[in-house]
Amino acid sequence: AAKRSGRDTYRLASTHADAVSQRRQELTAGLKQGLLRGEFELLYQPLLDLKRARFVGAEALLRWHRPTVGVLHPAQFLDVAETSGLILEIGDWVLDRLCAQLAQWRWVLGEDFFVCANLSAAQLRRADFAGRFRRVLHSHGLTSAAVRLEVSESIMAQELGRALGDVTAATDMYLAVDDVSQGMLSLRNISSLPIRSLKLDHSLVAGLPNDTLSAQLVEALIAIGRTFGLSVVAEGVENAEQLQFLRQRGCDYCQGFLLSAPVAATDLPGLVNAPELLRGLLPALS
Ligand code: C2E
Ligand code: MG
Ligand code: MG
Ligand code: MG
Repeated sequence: AAKRSGRDTYRLASTHADAVSQRRQELTAGLKQGLLRGEFELLYQPLLDLKRARFVGAEALLRWHRPTVGVLHPAQFLDVAETSGLILEIGDWVLDRLCAQLAQWRWVLGEDFFVCANLSAAQLRRADFAGRFRRVLHSHGLTSAAVRLEVSESIMAQELGRALGDVTAATDMYLAVDDVSQGMLSLRNISSLPIRSLKLDHSLVAGLPNDTLSAQLVEALIAIGRTFGLSVVAEGVENAEQLQFLRQRGCDYCQGFLLSAPVAATDLPGLVNAPELLRGLLPALS
């Protein structure tokens, strides 16, 4: 009986593995088609400058309008995009699209308005990433100050000394560490890499202001940012108490549902230029 149940377990496990690989194949085919048929969209979530009390930039966030399925978030397809290698084509599309968008916005939002772009490990591993990216910027009449490149703390720690070579040698790039929470990057790395910004993960912000450990970690990270001359961005800001805490402790930028969910490109200029949105937050901003 033991033997039999062992065999059944094996059969179940292999059936499961088949289902997983079939799902992956379907997703991969779907992603390829999605690229050809223009099923991807970038939403934009504005970043509030806490000192100037106005929106100064926006993060581009990828969505996939998958026919008959609905709108998929990155968590639902990025791993398959990564393992299939399609992330390179998708990443190229993302960078080109957001540069084209920003070039249009500059007329309405000003020359200083910036866009934040998320990078995958595979993009970083490309030996010629910096050169490619510079060409995209150039083709849209932009300089590297206009697009801030976000690399998650875990990817950055993992790729240290390998893939990071090309981007970090390109010191004209604006590089931000995304999802800072685990302390995976040592202080030595933070100080020696050409990083300009730390982006605090929403898991840290979620505990503010009452959870003592979250509050201490956020204060310490803001101090590290100040020491090394890095701007500090808090993501996942959902209420006015969090906003007030961050502003009082000297955090530079905030992003989160309190200010705005990610919105379609056409809706961003109206949002950024809407002072009534910020009026309700003034108590937390002063
Ligand atoms: P991220 O870069 O840390 O982006 C922030 C995520 O938090 C976004 O999820 C955003 O919609 C969500 N968010 C915004 N405000 C709040 C809030 O107040 N509370 C909470 N709990 N969450 C909030 P999204 O859009 O699902 O993206 C998830 C991740 O996927 C991103 O995390 C980023 O790592 C990755 N990603 C997004 N777009 C791209 C892309 O174009 N390329 C690559 N390689 N990765 C991308
Ligand atoms: Mg990001
Ligand atoms: Mg993040
Ligand atoms: Mg995050």
